[in-house]
Amino acid sequence: MRYSLLSLVRNALSGHRHWRPAWRDAAPKPAYDVVIVGGGGHGLATAYYLARLHGIGRVAVLEKGWIGGGNTGRNTTIIRSNYFLPANAHFYEHALKLWEGLSRELNYNIMFSQRGVVNLFHSPAEREGWTRRYNMMRLNGTDAEVLTRERLAAMLPELSLDPGARYPVLGGVIQPRGGVARHDAVAWGYARAADRLGVDIIQNCEVTGFEIGNGRIAGVETTRGAIRAGRVGLCVAGHSGTLARLAGLRLPIETHLLQAVVTEPVKPFLSRVVSSGALRVYVSQTAKGEVLIGGPLDGYNSYSQRGAWPTVERILAGAAELYPRIRRLRLMRQWAGVMDMSMDGSPIISATPVGGLFLNGGWCYGGFKATPAAGWCMAHLLATGATHDLGRAFALDRFRTGHILTERGEGPQPHLH
Ligand SMILES: Cc1cc2nc3c(=O)[nH]c(=O)nc-3n(C[C@H](O)[C@H](O)[C@H](O)COP(=O)(O)OP(=O)(O)OC[C@H]3O[C@@H](n4cnc5c(N)ncnc54)[C@H](O)[C@@H]3O)c2cc1C
Repeated sequence: MRYSLLSLVRNALSGHRHWRPAWRDAAPKPAYDVVIVGGGGHGLATAYYLARLHGIGRVAVLEKGWIGGGNTGRNTTIIRSNYFLPANAHFYEHALKLWEGLSRELNYNIMFSQRGVVNLFHSPAEREGWTRRYNMMRLNGTDAEVLTRERLAAMLPELSLDPGARYPVLGGVIQPRGGVARHDAVAWGYARAADRLGVDIIQNCEVTGFEIGNGRIAGVETTRGAIRAGRVGLCVAGHSGTLARLAGLRLPIETHLLQAVVTEPVKPFLSRVVSSGALRVYVSQTAKGEVLIGGPLDGYNSYSQRGAWPTVERILAGAAELYPRIRRLRLMRQWAGVMDMSMDGSPIISATPVGGLFLNGGWCYGGFKATPAAGWCMAHLLATGATHDLGRAFALDRFRTGHILTERGEGPQPHLH
């Protein structure tokens, strides 16, 4: 959206009353072709691609709070495609390619910064794991480079390479095209673009039940009344299990807490995203200068979005081991999101036993980077009823047939962040 200097001045002098809202505040209609539950990045991207690629504009996105207020607005925004298994690698590589053109596609600056994602190794066993992953990445056509300690020292001057450390750094693998993006902007950019294509984005509208007849979905019940739709997509992350249960389904997904923290802002010193499986921590620096630190799950089921202090203490200790100078910084904020952990660590984009009801969930640590490709494949599924080639391995019934997709054993913490 472009504003002239005159309109900027007019708005500044009139109490900002003349800005055009980025998307309409739509009221629910009685019926839609497709209803999407969940206004996070995945739900909004699905709506956008449904309208743009498949010409289906009678779509509503129902969000119980505000768009982007779930994990989309709570994550540490790391984007990468450094997977081992071909199904995951090709899916996340497609996502990365979409990220590379997304600001232009949406005409919205999502601040995508391809600063590179470095995974450190601290032991010969970890080096083996990461070298194997590096080889597989190259075979899958993904960019990757092995880094010696000398290269690391030049690239990350503040990183501790102390040989006497508890877990001395031996080297790393970088995916140079990996990076970060501004999470809110991703939600807002997709919302605005979907709205322009006729999609209704309805906030403060919680789905409380499903209307199902003869094994097929007929609509949803919401806090703002019933809405009819022959196709419904669930994109509710950590609420997948509770919502699916309302449709009579039991999913192979557990809800867990994942925390992150930021320090006070400092001058730029950390030009890459750095992750350590041994220390179970990852660190980057935001555009504002805050040091952003994340780690593993808290380890117990919860919907609280808060998290426990021992986890914070552990991840801070790990970060300070990598970057000793950050010990002196003050912690500004801590938060948690409710994570949809699938039983094999890979996502689900799938039809369900209820006709017309489709599921997008099980994103674990990695759903933000998946956003464009998840929306792309989910839109294909909702529009055609058929699975997109890129999402073929992510069917729900793999847990019944045993075709599970686990990256475990392919290097330390392969799904961390
Ligand atoms: C601390 C943290 C760090 C992370 N770091 C990374 C990272 O670096 N890189 C990465 O790729 N991923 C990361 N993730 C994971 C990532 O955030 C998620 O996988 C991704 O954002 C999921 O997007 P989504 O749109 O599916 O979910 P969400 O953004 O959570 O959207 C789901 C929406 O559904 C709504 N909803 C739920 N129930 C209902 C209902 N009954 N009716 C209507 N609406 C409902 C919720 O309010 C929510 O807004 C991280 C997550 C956390 C918590």
